[in-house]
Amino acid sequence: MFINQNPNRRSFLGSVSAAVAALVSPSRLFGKTVAATPPPAGVTGFGATGNVYEELGVTPVINGEGTMTVLGGSLMRPEVEAVMSMAGRHFVPILELEVAAGNRITQLLKLPDGYTAIVTSGAAAAMQSGLAGILTGDNEQFIQQLPDLTGMKTEVIIQKSHRNPFDHQLRSTGIKLVVIETREQLARAINPNTAMMHFSNFANSAGEIKVEEWVKIAHAHNIPAFIDAAADTPPVSHLWDYAQMGYDLIAFSGGKAIRGPQCAGLLVGKKDLVAYALLNNSPHEDTLGRSQKVGKEEVVGMVKALELYLAEDHAALNAEWQRRLDYISAAVTKIPGVATEFSLPDVANHVPHLHISWDPKRVSATPRDVSAALRQSKPSIVIGASERGGGLSMNSFMLQPDEEKIIAEKLAQILKAHAA
Ligand SMILES: *Cc1c(COP(=O)(O)O)cnc(C)c1O
Repeated sequence: MFINQNPNRRSFLGSVSAAVAALVSPSRLFGKTVAATPPPAGVTGFGATGNVYEELGVTPVINGEGTMTVLGGSLMRPEVEAVMSMAGRHFVPILELEVAAGNRITQLLKLPDGYTAIVTSGAAAAMQSGLAGILTGDNEQFIQQLPDLTGMKTEVIIQKSHRNPFDHQLRSTGIKLVVIETREQLARAINPNTAMMHFSNFANSAGEIKVEEWVKIAHAHNIPAFIDAAADTPPVSHLWDYAQMGYDLIAFSGGKAIRGPQCAGLLVGKKDLVAYALLNNSPHEDTLGRSQKVGKEEVVGMVKALELYLAEDHAALNAEWQRRLDYISAAVTKIPGVATEFSLPDVANHVPHLHISWDPKRVSATPRDVSAALRQSKPSIVIGASERGGGLSMNSFMLQPDEEKIIAEKLAQILKAHAA
């Protein structure tokens, strides 16, 4: 089972140490890397080379890890960039735009009656403002008072296996997480102070109470149920499945597989709760969510990204992702002692994964050595040591055309260099 927080943490630590190394010896990180895009006509000065990152001295990487925020999430389609640029040419009343975009998204996703959506600055922001809205309703004093919960409910129930770094966004409202493991503990935990029951969908298989039962129990007690489904597309149907299941609020990342703007996400949910969430968010000023501003460009970009994502041939995409991994697998398994295995996480990052492992008697380098050598190669390639231990683990859905060839070649080179 692949959960998000571990790779995030690993990559975060990796990037911290890389940044420290860069301070010590900046020249080590420079060199020719990922192809530059041609500069737009008329750009002189900064950006004139077509590679803004290299101009700043930061090396872009080939991303074999997937939609990681620490690597920049995903890449927008050109049409998304185009509509964002159109959006940037006019002033517009932001609240009116949020509501109108939410209506369009509701139609695009064919959400059930009584549901709507807003664009937030990410799934994390959707979690914070969604809960804030449940706590405050439309009470202006409560909205201004958060995270002081005087007069409001104070508890959110979560299963122990569902705890993860993103529940910081829930705790930031001032609530206390009440952690349970069994149905019995849940029954005892529910009380008049319970504001919400939170479900982290990537942990569905780890908890005693699964996704459909969780919402039923919540509703039997008149408690709103929230589901963090940030990284849960593909499959595309997850964009409406949880609303159909009855979840009151649902958070998605815009800048992961949907390939919307990196600073965008969706809060889908019951109309009143979504409206309360918006009251707790930018552009409203005396609010907890004012720090999570979402711009007109992101709101519009998210509408376009969803339209394009829904129209995509998902089976063809999946076949292409598998083909890339097959290519890499074929190249590395030619090396004696190297083996590969494929897997598909059930939920969250539900895309083909490739695990590459080797007999340490025949290839002496450790997975961490190989991962570090890939990172230092030109172009720089990010593929982490497997969470399972004993190898490397990668996916291919964020690779750009032909990058699988570069990865196959470099990886084979590095493994061969350490062959016994
Ligand atoms: C990525 C992620 C988030 C945060 O999403 P953003 O859109 O980056 O704010 C929250 N929860 C889970 C499980 C995630 O994978």
